[in-house]
Amino acid sequence: MSKSKYDVQVNPDLCTGCLRCGLACSELYTGAFNPLLARIHVKVSGATCEILFTEECNACGVCADNCFFEALTKTRKEAQA
Ligand code: SF4
Ligand code: SF4
Repeated sequence: MSKSKYDVQVNPDLCTGCLRCGLACSELYTGAFNPLLARIHVKVSGATCEILFTEECNACGVCADNCFFEALTKTRKEAQA
C-alpha cells in the first residue's frame, strides 16, 4: 500500500452510480467485469451514493481514471524523502 503513487479522493455527491469504477477495478485485478469483485464498492440509495474501498485497495487510481463524473479523483502523493 505504501507503494501507491496516488491518493484517491471521493465526492459521493457527484456519483451517479454508473459503476464504471468497479468495472475497471475488477477487470484489472480479476479479469472479470464484475463490480462485486472490485476493491471499490458503490452503494446507491435513492439519490445518494456511498463509496467504500476494501482493504485490498492499493490506491492505484484506475477507478478515478474511469470515473467521468469527478466523484473519484486522484492526486499524486508527495515524494517521500
Ligand atoms: S484505487 Fe485501484 S485498487 Fe483501489 S478501488 Fe480504485 S482501481 Fe481498485
Ligand atoms: S464513483 Fe464515478 S465511476 Fe464510480 S459509480 Fe460513481 S460516478 Fe460512476
